Amino acid sequence: MICPFCGKEMEKGILSGDGRCAVRWKSGDKKANFTDTLVDSGRVTAAKHTIAYFTIEAYYCSVCKKMIFDTEVTS
Ligand SMILES: [Zn+2]
Repeated sequence: MICPFCGKEMEKGILSGDGRCAVRWKSGDKKANFTDTLVDSGRVTAAKHTIAYFTIEAYYCSVCKKMIFDTEVTS
C-alpha cells in the first residue's frame, strides 16, 4: 500500500495485543509472539488500553508515523 501522506511504500504488518502487555506491531503476516515482544516488534503508542486479545492487519509508514487498516463498524 502506498502512503497517502508521503507517497512511499508502507510496510504490511500485524497489530496484536492480549490485554496483559503493550499493543505490538510486527511486519509480515504473523502477529508478534513473546520473543518478538522483547526484540523484533514495536510498541504502538496510540493504543492506551486493551481489554482482550486481538490482531489487526495494518500498514505502517515509518516516515509519517501513521498506520492504515481496513475495518467496518458493526452493531
Ligand atoms: Zn508516509
